[in-house]
Formats: sequence, C-alpha cells, structure tokens
Amino acid sequence: MKELQYDAAVIGGGAAGMAAALEIDGAGFSCALIEREDYLGGILMQCIHNGFGLHEFQEELTGPEFAERFIQKTARARIAVYLNTTVTELRPETRGDYKELYCVSPAGVLHIRARAVILAMGCRERNRGNVRIPGSRPAGVYTAGLAQRLVNIEGYIPGKEAVIIGSGDIGLIMARRMSWIGCKVKGVVEIMPYPAGLTRNIVQCLEDFDIPLYLSSQTTAIFGNHRVEGVEVTPMENGVLIPDKRFRIDCDTVLLSVGLVPENELSKSAGVELGPTGGPLVDSYLMTGIDGVFACGNVLHVHDLVDWVAEESHRAGGYAVRWLKGARPGRQIRAKAGSNLRYVIPNRIDPQEDTKVYLRSLIVKNDAILELRIDNRIVKTVKKGHIQPSEMISLALTAKDFEETTADSALEFSIK
Ligand SMILES: Cc1cc2nc3c(=O)[nH]c(=O)nc-3n(C[C@H](O)[C@H](O)[C@H](O)COP(=O)(O)OP(=O)(O)OC[C@H]3O[C@@H](n4cnc5c(N)ncnc54)[C@H](O)[C@@H]3O)c2cc1C
Repeated sequence: MKELQYDAAVIGGGAAGMAAALEIDGAGFSCALIEREDYLGGILMQCIHNGFGLHEFQEELTGPEFAERFIQKTARARIAVYLNTTVTELRPETRGDYKELYCVSPAGVLHIRARAVILAMGCRERNRGNVRIPGSRPAGVYTAGLAQRLVNIEGYIPGKEAVIIGSGDIGLIMARRMSWIGCKVKGVVEIMPYPAGLTRNIVQCLEDFDIPLYLSSQTTAIFGNHRVEGVEVTPMENGVLIPDKRFRIDCDTVLLSVGLVPENELSKSAGVELGPTGGPLVDSYLMTGIDGVFACGNVLHVHDLVDWVAEESHRAGGYAVRWLKGARPGRQIRAKAGSNLRYVIPNRIDPQEDTKVYLRSLIVKNDAILELRIDNRIVKTVKKGHIQPSEMISLALTAKDFEETTADSALEFSIK
C-alpha cells in the first residue's frame, strides 16, 4: 500500500473539485485531487450543449469547454491529480492532525493522509426503482443522464421513438438531443402541474421541437416484454388519478428524468451528518459536522447551473485554506427553511461573517418575497420576483443582518 500525505485532499474531479483544489493550491498548500474516471471534468464532459459559464467566464460555453478551462488551470498548478482512483473509505478520526483516505487505483491501494478534506463527489440520478413505475421490465428504459452518455460519449442511438418521464433539465436536454439524432420524442410526462426544469429548456428543447409536455400526468405502466412497446399515461386532477382519461403512447425507449440525489455513501460511512438536501449539513464555511471536512457542488445540494457550483466551490477551497492556516469557526446559529422552502444552505450561520445563502422553493410564485426572521422577528425582506422549484434562490447576508443575535437564536427563511 502506497502512503501519501498532503495538506488537503479533494474527492471528485468535476467542476466543484477542481475549483476547490485550485484555491488550496493557489494559497501554497499541497493538494491531492482524486477522480474515479480517467478524465477530469465530471458530468460536464457529456453535456455538449451550450449554456455554461455565463457567470464564471462571462461567455456561453459547452460543458466540455467549461471543464477544459479548469483542466488547463489544474494542469498548470502543483495539484497532484489521481485519475482512475476511487476513494472507498474516509476515516475522519484524526491520527495526529490528519484524516485518512483509502483509494483503489491502478497502482494498487493508496493510503492518503490529509489535514483537510473536500467532499466534491457530485450526484447520481434517481431511477425506475425510486419512482416505482408498474409494468414489465423490458430493455429500453434508461435514466436520461445514462442516455446522454451513450449518445454524446459512446456514440450509440438508444432508440427510435422515445417518451421521457419527468421534466427535469437532463430529460429536457435529452428530448432535444434525441430529436437531433433522428429519434421521435413523443412526449414528456410530468406528475407535477409545473415543469421541473428551467424555463429556457422548456422553450429551447420542447417548444422549438413541437414535443408535447403532459403536466399533472403520471406514467402508470410501461409495456413490453423484451423491448419497451409503450407507456400508459394517466392524467390527474387535484392530485388524483383520472383512470377514464388514461391513454397509451407507443414507443421503444423510455428516458427517466426524475431527480438527482447527492452522492454521499462515502460521507455517510465517514459519519458526516446529512440534511434535507441529501447532502451534508454545513456551516457558513461549508464545513460539515466533522472538523476540517468541507463539502461543495452537487454533493452538497443539486445545483441548476455549473457557475454556482464553481462559485460555491471556490469559496469552499478558500474556507479550507483559512482552516489550514488555523482559523476555527466561532459561535454559529441554526438556520432553517420555513414555509414554502425545501432547504437552506448553510444550516449554521456565523453571525460575525458575510454569508451566501442558497435556498430552494417548494412552490411556483410570481412577486415572491423572501423573508428572514431571527427569533420570530422579521429582520429582512427581499423581493424575488418569479420563483420556481427548479431555480435556486440565493441571498447575500452580512454581519449587519445578524445584530442582536444570541447563542440560542434561530434563523428562519420563508417565502411569502
Ligand atoms: C445533464 C446535465 C445538464 C446540465 N446542463 C447545464 C447547463 O446547461 N448549464 C449549466 O450551467 N449547468 C448545467 N448542469 C449542471 C452542472 O453541469 C453540474 O451541476 C456541475 O457540473 C456539477 O459539478 P460537480 O463537480 O458538483 O459534480 P460532478 O461533475 O458530477 O463531479 C463529481 C465527480 O466526482 C467523482 N467521484 C464521485 N465519487 C467518487 C469517489 N468515491 N472517488 C473518486 N471520485 C469520485 C465523479 O466521477 C465525478 O467526476 C447540467 C448537469 C447535468 C447532469
């Protein structure tokens, strides 16, 4: 077993991992960047459409172009990059001042010791088992991200006639991609009364291709024995299925775009406490409940834009640098999501510091107001215009917003 030692180890070489590693390297600390694939870039490498980088680079790039800029910077830095290397165990109990990582690599098992660890493992797709669609088990059912990989990286055409279940962004992007490769996309079926994906993707990927979107509709069966032959769609009214209105769409392929889950098996087994996003609970410094273990990007919460992933991960790297230099968080107060919000990140806020907060709405609303209460007193209201669950909300808070808090204070964010 090869023994290695660094100031910091970053797990995952996507946009998040590279952004965090660059900050650590830039501050003069030694850093290992560990990626299980044989390339850096993560999910970006299969997203060959444009729409990336408008905030980070003030340019519209494709996913691989966005990744390439970070890959070039990483290559110029002194970061020790380990490809084809999977972290299988993280032991945060410190021996001396170090956490321990065990990795499987082409060179055998690596034992990496690092003072700080950044979790940047991204997310994975929910699948048919997660949404329990009745019916047989034929070939031709893919998650949308897998189909994207088959088309954009492996060069396969998954089918000729497709139905997409769920209107998340990956499904919408794949509706357009499948159309371009000659597959007839016969519809997108969404259980909610509103689309799950970004508005720009509804317009550019469905409306521009005359692909029908069935809202408030559930896929109640998948037909076919060896290969998919069709799906049954049942419309809903007030959340109740209306069986008399059900109809069949013939197809040979079903793509599932039914949500993403932060990839935290490693974090859980290391004892990191997870929160309502499925990612770690973190403080103002994006530090998990384990001292010196930070989290950023999709492993923390599923982001809609890679630009926000990069922005958050630069900060996580910067906080790790502060921690490596000896800074330790002071008193922090609990932050929670109140009415109409699914989650708030971070979950603990340092009232002495400026903090960027990310929130996810549970509702679609025009003229929405974001309200911050401290101990039930309204201390801030911000007009947010149109909000919807698919678009992250952010809020910059300063120490001034937290005047008059005590150690027992509680912050609550809500949408009115
Ligand atoms: C299909 C799709 C379309 C998108 N379209 C857009 C768009 O148009 N515009 C936009 O701005 N954003 C878009 N996004 C969002 C954006 O691309 C992602 O949010 C962002 O790239 C995620 O970065 P990440 O580093 O957090 O995760 P990832 O890119 O998933 O990176 C995580 C990395 O960690 C590695 N890893 C995981 N576990 C381990 C382990 N145990 N050991 C070693 N390595 C490990 C993985 O192999 C992976 O490379 C899209 C996302 C998807 C999925």
